[in-house]
Amino acid sequence: MTVHDIRHNISFFRQERPPVYFDNSATTQQPDEVIRAVINFSRYTNANPFRGLYDLSGEATAVYEAARKKVAAFLNISDPRQIVFTRNTTESINLVAECILRTNHSRFRIDPGDRIVVTVSEHHSNLLPWQRLARITGARLVFMEPDSTGLITDAEIESRITDRTKLVAAAHVSNVWGRVNPIDKIILRARSVGALTVIDGAQAVAHMKVDVRNTGCDFYAFSGHKMLGPMGIGVLFGRADLLEQLDPFLSGGEMIEYVTRESATYAPIPHKFEAGTVNAAGAAGLAAACDYIDKIGFDYIKSQVNTLTAEVMNGMREMEGITVYGSRNPSEHNGIVSFSIAGCHPHDVASILNEDHICVRAGHHCAQPLMQFLGIGSCVRCSLYAYNTHREVSRFIDCLSRVRKVMGY
Ligand code: PMP
Repeated sequence: MTVHDIRHNISFFRQERPPVYFDNSATTQQPDEVIRAVINFSRYTNANPFRGLYDLSGEATAVYEAARKKVAAFLNISDPRQIVFTRNTTESINLVAECILRTNHSRFRIDPGDRIVVTVSEHHSNLLPWQRLARITGARLVFMEPDSTGLITDAEIESRITDRTKLVAAAHVSNVWGRVNPIDKIILRARSVGALTVIDGAQAVAHMKVDVRNTGCDFYAFSGHKMLGPMGIGVLFGRADLLEQLDPFLSGGEMIEYVTRESATYAPIPHKFEAGTVNAAGAAGLAAACDYIDKIGFDYIKSQVNTLTAEVMNGMREMEGITVYGSRNPSEHNGIVSFSIAGCHPHDVASILNEDHICVRAGHHCAQPLMQFLGIGSCVRCSLYAYNTHREVSRFIDCLSRVRKVMGY
């Protein structure tokens, strides 16, 4: 498949004059096959999964459970019971934090003075749940800090993750500078001190083959809408033994085995974490997105994204007053180029680009501690995917080169 085949499969790009969509880290565009899977569920299989004894409900259950198997295979996980469907990355991470708080088991015990370790570049979704957990348990929140290129060094990992560390949470790929965190080393160190590991894979799953089993992490979270899937469906991988020991944080229908007036026993994993009616149409769409990404192949995705990223960064090098955050090597950005233009507010830059129908993100990118670390309030983020083109990059660079002039410099 080439970029032209991919664009041909996505109605968004078949519009007469589609905008230049460079906000792929926020949400990706959906191939027709994904949309069709969602619509087909709603049209022909729309019954409440698990509940009915009639055939249609059985079919709905089958679609939902087939999606679970598909996602498990996508992550190289042999036991689909380890896949919990959620709404998004945020809910997946909150699920882990809230369940830990509710579970009275030594494996999840966090005492005052214990450490919860995160990186300073986390998205707020992988920070606020841990701030709350630290506040309630009295644990200390400790930050691993990257160098100026975004790299977390071995020394930083060794010194921040200590015998007092009970949990380590880190992004696989940063949503601001696209840098891959050394999660293998982080997980190894965390395991050596007996700490749980939670990896935020929101920016990784669309860009690289994520072999969750081989990473050895305890939990891995991501969203469907950042990997060509629909909004409203997310995933939490959890190690089966841990999921079995954890108490759920949402309770009600679907997640029980037996209920009396006073008490209940929970359904086996993963169902005990999926209270209420599930998003079966979304799961069907996510399964189609996994298939579609497999069809493109990560070799193609990487080469297209890296080529375009290099073009963006080379174009920026020619311009005055631009600072690009993170590595100087385009292939270490996973398509994400965050930057500032001297004297221009990021919102103005995004507005000027918008006038040329170019979509980029401006703001703190839900990573305010990283903005503080970089000494800025906000920046502009251009994020590319395998369906973007050289022509779109030229349009972007051309418009960007006029921004300072428009702003009166
Ligand atoms: N973590 C990272 C690294 C992200 O980039 C995002 C989305 N910007 C999230 C978490 C949150 O994802 P969602 O809004 O789908 O829950």
